[in-house]
Amino acid sequence: MINKVLIVEDEKSIVDILRFNLSREGYETMEAYDGAAGLNLALEHAPDLILLDLMLPEMDGFQVCRALRDQGNHTPVLIITAREEEKDKVLGLELGADDYITKPFSVRELLARVKANIRRSHMPARPEAGDGAGGNQLVLGRLVINQDSVSVRKDNLPLELTQREFELLLFLATHAEKVFSRQEIMEHVWNYDGYVGDVRGVDVTVRRLREKLEDDPAQPAFIMTRRGLGYYFAAG
Ligand code: CA
Repeated sequence: MINKVLIVEDEKSIVDILRFNLSREGYETMEAYDGAAGLNLALEHAPDLILLDLMLPEMDGFQVCRALRDQGNHTPVLIITAREEEKDKVLGLELGADDYITKPFSVRELLARVKANIRRSHMPARPEAGDGAGGNQLVLGRLVINQDSVSVRKDNLPLELTQREFELLLFLATHAEKVFSRQEIMEHVWNYDGYVGDVRGVDVTVRRLREKLEDDPAQPAFIMTRRGLGYYFAAG
């Protein structure tokens, strides 16, 4: 099966580099040079992944990302951003982008991220069909993680987690007390094998997860930081 990648980027030289390298790896590509055209192509042609620049004419990348997610479109979105735009990466992830890559990017890192995000999106969200309520549950004190329904309850109230936040929580919780580096978390939760590059997306996702999960995100009781090493789930 040939995977389709939609490139939404107004700098022609970058589009050319992306198209060349993606085609050489066997991807089919489509291009849009402004946000509105990108959104239309994304909705009409159902690409397997979208490479999305942030600073675009017509609609910027944030608006495109938000519009897609608001319409229930879950196509993986990889934001392409300039190095100075640290805040933009965070906002992009909060609007539902899956990951970002910084300009100037290494082609190797870009291809690794494209591949991992497509493979991840093609995996079934629900590992095994359980038998309804009660099925595949992990009970951890005040938290109940249900793998069948991909849902989490804290003190019996449902938490609204994104799939990535759910996967991060599930991964750490099933290895309680074990510390994982950002690199290891990228490999397991983001499915990047071997080459990872920029791992700050882990910190952003941990921060968002804490805001939803913790009583006081500044004093976490579930997702803990081991300074200089990484993160772990506290068994309580
Ligand atoms: Ca641009």
